[in-house]
Amino acid sequence: MATERTFSIIKPDATRRNLTGKVNAVLEAAGLRIVAQKRIQMTQAQAEAFYGVHKERPFFRDLVTFMISGPVVVQVLEGENAVARNREVMGATDPKKADAGTIRAQFAENIEANSVHGSDSAENAATEIAYFFSGIELVG
Ligand code: ATP
Ligand code: MG
Repeated sequence: MATERTFSIIKPDATRRNLTGKVNAVLEAAGLRIVAQKRIQMTQAQAEAFYGVHKERPFFRDLVTFMISGPVVVQVLEGENAVARNREVMGATDPKKADAGTIRAQFAENIEANSVHGSDSAENAATEIAYFFSGIELVG
């Protein structure tokens, strides 16, 4: 399995509680390297576009409001099988169902304020990375 990149967001519930370093420690311990990272405040338009795939879902409005409720840290993670590895270490969407030791089991507040986002495929990872980072910001 070749080295792969995935896209990650540390969500506003986690930045609000000053958990960026703790989340990053879990990512790094899982063998993922943070090759790009910046703290940003998403606009409503950016959050709506990012979660556009969910726009028909009942939770879409609340999700967008939550994602712009404070700063987020957007990241590019690199490692063997990085997309799947990150999904594993994030844990299930609902923290009540997340395996012990995962980021969501340790830190998430609830199914919406669940501390992290991670791309669900290599194809979506490439799209999401290009949405938030320019080539010059990716140093490998
Ligand atoms: P993400 O895409 O953020 O990595 P995910 O892939 O585990 O999470 P999705 O099904 O893609 O989950 O949902 C995107 C986000 O929408 C979730 O992370 C969560 O913040 C929110 N969400 C999902 N399902 C619900 C729900 N039933 N109620 C409220 N919010 C939800
Ligand atoms: Mg998802």
